[in-house]
Amino acid sequence: MKKHLLFLGPPGAGKGTQAALLSEANSYLHLSTGELLRTEIDLDTDLGKEVKDIMNKGELVSDQLVLEIVKKNLDKENKGWILDGYPRNLSQVNSLNDVLMNLNQPLEIVFYLDIPDEVLIKRLIMRGRKDDNEETIKTRLKIYKETTEPLIDYYKNLSLLEYINANGDLKTISADIKQKMASR
Ligand code: ADP
Repeated sequence: MKKHLLFLGPPGAGKGTQAALLSEANSYLHLSTGELLRTEIDLDTDLGKEVKDIMNKGELVSDQLVLEIVKKNLDKENKGWILDGYPRNLSQVNSLNDVLMNLNQPLEIVFYLDIPDEVLIKRLIMRGRKDDNEETIKTRLKIYKETTEPLIDYYKNLSLLEYINANGDLKTISADIKQKMASR
């Protein structure tokens, strides 16, 4: 069973939901950089204060900062892990490669959750998180297309990519993920 997984896709594709389901079913660590950052904001920590405005604008927080969070959470003891929301640009990919090399835990599958823009804009507006207003969504999508989308080809070239049609109901999507995981 593969145990070092990554979810890639635009905001609103359902990465968090699917990563949570899969990690729970397998007792893997679900490492969502967005969730961890939001917790820091809720707890009003120094780190939370530092990232609050950036996140509410829909921009990316610094690579260094998210790298610290990732390093703090991944270790030799993890039974398995699912990364969600990290990496988001090629510099983060390189940092992650270093971290995983040191841990001797190479990435095994990258699930790419694909979904049309119209659908995810609707979903995000319905979700109504603090950074889910029309203006912020536009910014996040733009950043996604410019800096995160190139990662799809990067992982495809490494033969790590599994394509998932994320425009459907939750159960169909999780069944597809499960099936693709079993066939690897
Ligand atoms: P979504 O995928 O719906 O945008 P996330 O919870 O993954 O939601 O991310 C929310 C916000 O957290 C991002 O807009 C960004 O400001 C910050 N963030 C999360 N992960 C990263 C990352 N890897 N690098 C930089 N910023 C990040």
